[in-house]
Amino acid sequence: MRLKLKLKTVFVLYFMVSLLGLVYALMQLGQRCDCTEHDIIKDRTISRLRGDLQKLQEEVKRSDTTKAPKKTHLPTIYVITPTYARLVQKAELMRLSQTFLHVPQLHWVVVEDADQPTALVRNLLAESGLTYTQLHILTPKDRKLQEGDPSWLKPRGAEQRNEGLRWLREMGSASRGQHGAAVENAVVYFADDDNTYSLKLFEEMRYTQGVSVWPVGLVGGMRFESPVVDGGKVIRFHTGWRPNRPFPIDMAGFAVSLHLVLTNPDAVFDGDAQMGFLESSFLQGIITMEELEPKADMCTKILVWHTRTEKPKMKREDALQKQGLGSDPNVEV
Ligand code: UDP
Ligand code: MN
Repeated sequence: MRLKLKLKTVFVLYFMVSLLGLVYALMQLGQRCDCTEHDIIKDRTISRLRGDLQKLQEEVKRSDTTKAPKKTHLPTIYVITPTYARLVQKAELMRLSQTFLHVPQLHWVVVEDADQPTALVRNLLAESGLTYTQLHILTPKDRKLQEGDPSWLKPRGAEQRNEGLRWLREMGSASRGQHGAAVENAVVYFADDDNTYSLKLFEEMRYTQGVSVWPVGLVGGMRFESPVVDGGKVIRFHTGWRPNRPFPIDMAGFAVSLHLVLTNPDAVFDGDAQMGFLESSFLQGIITMEELEPKADMCTKILVWHTRTEKPKMKREDALQKQGLGSDPNVEV
């Protein structure tokens, strides 16, 4: 009983003291004080912070408008992509651009198969957040596949890749001396717009000295095609067709140093090359099989796939269009 009483008293006392403390604190809050000095310090801090904020905002604006390249020691990867207008073009380029956004120090060189640059590609690039260059060159009619031709009849994208090479050489000679090292360390990769690329692939190719190589999945009627490596050197190629071609590798299966591109100004893709010889037409003048640099765990990992996009069927669209009820042509797809 006594103990209970005591506890109760303690609680009551505790409650009273807390209440008094609270009341005192509230009274202090409401009271006027001579805070002029306090206010001056506060005002000064606020205006200093405002100044700092403004400076930072200006700096951000400046770096946005000049798009100053970030200082980095990573070699630049120039990715050359031929592309042409068709229903799936925007989807292909969107997928690629969003892969490339994850790759540091990448410069996308998009070469349209067109007689002038298109708004679709221009807008997509402008909104991509990537560092890029938009080029164009129309494939001459006699070199272009016609409707109904089998896909293997003529090489595709040759003119466009050569236009990319021409731009690189022009840029390379213009900036020689100025950013010498940056240009010389850079790497060139030919990435078609319909393939699938692992981010790891770009780190594999980044320190290419001459020509680096790796397997390509789902190509040439095979699960994969690949250089075969022994003792760190490429000794032959795993392919289902004419393994004795000079370089039986797909476009997606190699990267070349910009140095090699610049020191071999005549190395280009031969648009008239026989089927399967386009890659060889470019590579045979600049490198030998023994000199190839095997990547992707000595060519045992697949980091790029030669996927091909199905042409969408427009049966219902065509039918509706005949009735004047087709999808709005002003909507970009
Ligand atoms: N391409 C082009 N013009 C064409 C056909 C293709 O610029 O008339 C481009 C295409 O966008 C791709 C590359 O060339 O980036 C290779 O074409 P495709 O993927 O059709 O060839 P495949 O995969 O059958 O070798
Ligand atoms: Mn393709």
